[in-house]
Amino acid sequence: MVSPPLIDLHTHSTASDGTDSPGELVAAAHRAGVDVLAITDHDTTGGWAEAAAALPPGMRLVRGAEFSCVSPTGRAERPVSVHLLGYLFDPTHEAIVAEQARLRDERVTRLARITEKMAADGYPVDVESVFELVPDGTSAGRPHLARALVRAGVVDSVNNAFATLLHNGSPYYVPKADTPVERAIAMVRAAGGVAVFAHPLARRRGRVVEPSVIVDLAAIGLGGVEVDHPDHAPADRELLRELAAEHGLVTTGSSDYHGTNKTTPVGAERTAPDALDALVERTSGAEVVVG
Ligand code: AMP
Ligand code: ZN
Ligand code: FE
Ligand code: FE
Repeated sequence: MVSPPLIDLHTHSTASDGTDSPGELVAAAHRAGVDVLAITDHDTTGGWAEAAAALPPGMRLVRGAEFSCVSPTGRAERPVSVHLLGYLFDPTHEAIVAEQARLRDERVTRLARITEKMAADGYPVDVESVFELVPDGTSAGRPHLARALVRAGVVDSVNNAFATLLHNGSPYYVPKADTPVERAIAMVRAAGGVAVFAHPLARRRGRVVEPSVIVDLAAIGLGGVEVDHPDHAPADRELLRELAAEHGLVTTGSSDYHGTNKTTPVGAERTAPDALDALVERTSGAEVVVG
């Protein structure tokens, strides 16, 4: 029997908070048997060119990004931070270029503020040493600070840095001014891309949206939902699959690989070939690159 292609549509490189360079990411995915890989760094398309250049013959690259957004929860409470995957959009689209640049600046300011709050409480970290781990042009994130905490011997892993000090409910947490998710969806579509709600029910990270929010977003152009994600419980995957079927959303599955910053290997979750076709069908911004 011929096995279906292995399709992983959500991964990070050193262009944001992964630990593999874009070229290494492609090589790692190839070794893991991935046939179609999406590179989806946080708020940047900076890894696209290097990843495309590194493709071995026949391997395919879906160029994308993970947009930092804010959404109503569907309950009477303050909005929640959510992530939106945009695929195959035009990376020169003015609104996207401007918003991603604004968010990368926001990430730097905010990571510095978290670091200063921890330093003020006596933790052995300072802004300069944290930003040594964030080369120019990199989209900075809490995993960079987590690595600085590991290096300083405060915690023994990036995971434990999040569990104890860097999670969303921590006293050191500082929010960033994320894009309203409705606006991000409109932007991705205007740039010829398709928008997929990333890990909408990743409850271990904190509050999540009600299903009604996903239904509302489907009505304004959301193209899909990430169903098979390492942070999704089996019951939530089922709920999302049913919701997607009812509202015409494409369902995806992806590893959200971050190199050694997380334990999930690339290719650990997969998207069905017809789901990828349905996503590509909705785009006109950038092509899938074939190696
Ligand atoms: P930020 O983009 O600065 O808000 O940081 C969020 C990123 O931190 C996510 O994209 C993940 O890569 C990472 N992250 C969140 N929770 C954890 C965790 N428990 N363990 C490891 N990494 C995490
Ligand atoms: Zn990340
Ligand atoms: Fe995410
Ligand atoms: Fe991610």
